[in-house]
Amino acid sequence: MILPIYLLGNQALREETVTLEADSAAVQRLIDDMIETMHAAKGIGLAAPQVGRSERLFVVDVSAMADDFEETGIPLPEQPMVFINAQIVDESEDDSEYEEGCLSIPDIHEVVVRPKALTLRYLDRDFKQHERTFDGMLARVIQHEYDHVEGVLFIDHLTAFKRRLLKRRLEEIQHGHTAADYVVHAKDQGPIEPATD
Ligand code: ZN
Repeated sequence: MILPIYLLGNQALREETVTLEADSAAVQRLIDDMIETMHAAKGIGLAAPQVGRSERLFVVDVSAMADDFEETGIPLPEQPMVFINAQIVDESEDDSEYEEGCLSIPDIHEVVVRPKALTLRYLDRDFKQHERTFDGMLARVIQHEYDHVEGVLFIDHLTAFKRRLLKRRLEEIQHGHTAADYVVHAKDQGPIEPATD
C-alpha cells in the first residue's frame, strides 16, 4: 500500500524514533509499504517518520544508480536494503559534498557536506544483525536516512544564511504547496493528492 509522505512541518519528522524490539506481521507490512511508497515516489530512500511512524527503520534502493557502482568497482549489495535499529559505529574523517533532496521537502536541492564513509550496525528485515562499512552513494543515502530516524533533516546542515534564502519556499512546502507527483501529508491538512496538469 502506498502511504502519504509527510512534508516538512509535520511533528513526526522531528520526533525521536523508538527501537524495534521484535519482528511481527505488522512490521513486515510496514517495510513492504515503505518500499512500495519509496518506489512510487521515485525516491532512493525513505524513513519511518516520513510516513508518520515512530519506528527506528529506513529503507534504501539505489539500484537506479547501479552504473555509478560499476564505475567504482564496488559491488552493489542487493537492493532494496532495510535498516532496523541502525547505529553509527564509525565515520570517516574525509568529507564529501553532494547535492541532496528529500521526498519530505520537494523541489529543494542543496549541497550537503557529510563524512565520505561510515560503519553502521543494524538489523536487516529478517532481524539479522550486520556491521558493515559503506562508501560513496550508499554512504550518502544511508546518512540522510539515518538523520531522519534521529529527527534531523538535510536542511539542518545548511548555513543559517542559506536557510534564510530558502525560508519562503520552505514555508510554502509546509502549507502543502509543492510540485510533488505523489500523495503528501501536510501539517493540519492531511493527505493531498498531486496536482494534475
Ligand atoms: Zn529525506
